[in-house]
Amino acid sequence: MKAVAKMRREPGLDVIEIEPDTISENEVLLRMRAASICGSDLGFYNYTPAYQRFAKVPTIMGHEFAGEITETGKNVRDFVIGDRVSVESVLYCGKCKFCRSGTTNICQNFTVFGMHRNGAFAEYVAVDQKYLHRIPKEISFLEAGVVEPLSVVVNAFEDVAAPIRTGDTACVIGPGPLGLFSAEVLRSKGVRDLLILGIDMDEYRLQLARDKLSHEALSTESADPTERKNLITEGYGFDAVVVSAGSPAALKSAIPLASKGGQIIVIGIFPEDVSLPASDLVRRQISLRGSYGSAWKHYEEAIRLLKHKLVRAEAIVSHQFSLDQGEEAFQMAKAKTGSKIQFKN
Ligand SMILES: [Zn+2]
Ligand SMILES: [Zn+2]
Repeated sequence: MKAVAKMRREPGLDVIEIEPDTISENEVLLRMRAASICGSDLGFYNYTPAYQRFAKVPTIMGHEFAGEITETGKNVRDFVIGDRVSVESVLYCGKCKFCRSGTTNICQNFTVFGMHRNGAFAEYVAVDQKYLHRIPKEISFLEAGVVEPLSVVVNAFEDVAAPIRTGDTACVIGPGPLGLFSAEVLRSKGVRDLLILGIDMDEYRLQLARDKLSHEALSTESADPTERKNLITEGYGFDAVVVSAGSPAALKSAIPLASKGGQIIVIGIFPEDVSLPASDLVRRQISLRGSYGSAWKHYEEAIRLLKHKLVRAEAIVSHQFSLDQGEEAFQMAKAKTGSKIQFKN
């Protein structure tokens, strides 16, 4: 089969021919139908120091995926050949304190598909049945291929953030797929006054947010967000500020945008440490919350949101590529001239 893999300890990727992994008794073999490129895949592609430490080479990349079951191991009872499924990205131990309390996303001993074991940018992938979520017929494979990133946003708003109320104001910094999914989920919770911020390089994504999702979106390099903030929030600042961009400047800019008593929810991953005006956070009673990954129930909620068209994933997935076009797909992800980019098979 064809696969997009990290074969060398240097920036780049290889499109390879390889036999599919053989399945164990608790696993199924999936024919991949949609697998999305994540910011972390790009970090692995670029082979930044963080990923030199974190990920394993050689590995087939990809952890955000959906497919169709083509083979089942002998202990698999709940799924049959032909079932359509989305897959969890974090492989958890099931034994540590966090797994036992249901927060498998912060498992003490976790590994990730496409980083530590063969992932989804391949024609076929072997998956343990415990990571499978059934996809109803109302959801296309394109949509099923973003259940994972959407579930990350669901975790942030359902379990990490203080409750979001109808009529709250919100600002999303970073118009990448996680930012756009955040805006969609906030909207589904009754947030109407919402501002998406990016930089000039994000123009494609800002435009997409405006044209296809009808959100207000602007570049902070071309317009001053303070004026918009004051107008939207009557000078108070936003009740919730989401930082989905992994840039230190984005996180710093969140503090003056937040209301007194408000919250900043951080889902971006940063390449370096960030210094913050801590006393300002304290005196204005702003809470800063980090949110990472997602667990079983967040996948189920993401599937529900997609099923009822409460999140417009078809607008957020901008391009699909074949596995042969691995390099081209990653070049586009790097240049940010698309939004969510997927492989299909
Ligand atoms: Zn991801
Ligand atoms: Zn664990």
